[in-house]
Amino acid sequence: MNVIWFKRDLRVWDNEAFSKACESGPVIPLYIFEPELWSQNDLSYRHYQFLIECLDDLKYDIEKLGQELIIRSGNALEIFQDINQQFDISELWSHQETWNYWTFKRDSSVRKWTDLNNIEWNEPSQNGVIRALKDRDGWSKNWHTKMKVDNFLPPEKLNKLNIKTEEIPKPKDISLNRIDFVNIQKGGRREGLKLLDSFLLKRGKNYSREMSSPLTATNSCSRLSAHLSFGSLSIKEVFQATEAKKKELKELPKELKGNWIKSLNSFLGRLRWHCHFIQKLEDEPEIEFKNMHTSYDALRINDFKDIFFEKWKTGKTGYPMVDASMRSLIATGWLNFRMRAMLMSFASYHLWLPWQITSRYLATLFTDYEPGIHYSQSQMQSGTTGINSVRIYNPIKQGLDQDPDAVFIRKWLPELKKVSKENIHMPWKDAENMNGYPHPIVDESEARTSAASKIYKLRKDKIHKLEANKVYIKHGSRKPRSKKTKSKNKLKKSDVQMSLF
Ligand SMILES: Cc1cc2nc3c(=O)[nH]c(=O)nc-3n(C[C@H](O)[C@H](O)[C@H](O)COP(=O)(O)OP(=O)(O)OC[C@H]3O[C@@H](n4cnc5c(N)ncnc54)[C@H](O)[C@@H]3O)c2cc1C
Repeated sequence: MNVIWFKRDLRVWDNEAFSKACESGPVIPLYIFEPELWSQNDLSYRHYQFLIECLDDLKYDIEKLGQELIIRSGNALEIFQDINQQFDISELWSHQETWNYWTFKRDSSVRKWTDLNNIEWNEPSQNGVIRALKDRDGWSKNWHTKMKVDNFLPPEKLNKLNIKTEEIPKPKDISLNRIDFVNIQKGGRREGLKLLDSFLLKRGKNYSREMSSPLTATNSCSRLSAHLSFGSLSIKEVFQATEAKKKELKELPKELKGNWIKSLNSFLGRLRWHCHFIQKLEDEPEIEFKNMHTSYDALRINDFKDIFFEKWKTGKTGYPMVDASMRSLIATGWLNFRMRAMLMSFASYHLWLPWQITSRYLATLFTDYEPGIHYSQSQMQSGTTGINSVRIYNPIKQGLDQDPDAVFIRKWLPELKKVSKENIHMPWKDAENMNGYPHPIVDESEARTSAASKIYKLRKDKIHKLEANKVYIKHGSRKPRSKKTKSKNKLKKSDVQMSLF
């Protein structure tokens, strides 16, 4: 008996592990709900909700094949032991998972158990992430090769088995970190496919121009992130659908192409980034909580100010663009890249809060929480990688650039209704109309300058450079290097510049 263990790949289409598990005899399609995982402080009700909707579609698709999705709740090892006693598992199939530290540890114990019991555990990669990668050189080329492999087809039929299945526990029965939401995205493969279609048919046309403003990004970005994170769509099928669209567009006259090609190229680049960032966590699972570069270890952690954290968490810092972004995120579970970066940058630089704490909170809010992207990005936006440009976003400038008429700000901060157009990005200049909205908790310019000088001082140190080279060799993205540069293991000059946004 083979077992296909569905994890972050909740689909039957283009699911290599599922297709291959079905090739050699009867198979148990299994989803394990792990209450201990759901009690970790990076998971929340919105992830649960999205998962349930993905499982509904998966159940439907497996039933159409003649089987039932077997659901078990509890400790994965105990569940495997139980199934093994009854069915004598010969092969276990699941996609290679690069998720949080808890799942990393769980997989290590499952691996020990399969080895001990002579069960073959096959873990193909479902994206471009490579396990036990020796060298980052050639990674991008490899990613493209992987994305071009034909989609894996589900079997035509599955045989029905007589095996116990359970209900997923209700949120109230597990200690789930519940953050109320107004309107998060719907999960499930059908929703994912609708989003992909509408993005490639219409919404994506001005993606490259409209992704940075929270006003236009909601519609012009693909909104596929949570589907990629839960695997209701595969990154490969999204890549291939986008390439097909590009091919169609090439046949059209120039005037009909508009901004499409530029937008789709930009989008394809981000699909690659998705895997590039997850690769970092795959190579070093500890970056979920440890600075990539140790020079930053002594920073921030002892300066933690509870009150700053509370104000940032609830959208009450006194900076409208920061607060509107946070409140919109709390209500919808999604935010565009630039506003996520600004939120993180404001917390890490202006408020000098450690990313280890703030990123956990953001994880509970993002429906698309993907640890590999999340912690790498959190570290990048906090300046602790040692290899990326230091980007300190000025929230007033971001407001003026990305929401000049304050439409986004007024939507999420209704108390500022009476503040004039001239002062809306700096409402403290119109103090009598603030209507309970707080004054800024820090002076923007002073806080930014102070943070920049602390970080810059460290980066000038010779010791910093030595370790930065090592981080770059392990995690940096790069074009293929010549043998000469490779042997020198050199960091590029552009990797250490400072920039203020
Ligand atoms: C502090 C911080 C935390 C983040 N945490 C997450 C997270 O937990 N999960 C997550 O999926 N993304 C995360 N991102 C990256 C990015 O903001 C989201 O992927 C994007 O906003 C999702 O919306 P979309 O699907 O419409 O993206 P699109 O712009 O349509 O992009 C398509 C896909 O490309 C990938 N992608 C896009 N931008 C990036 C990027 N900068 N880095 C890596 N992959 C990217 C995503 O898978 C996305 O779904 C984070 C960014 C920051 C600054």
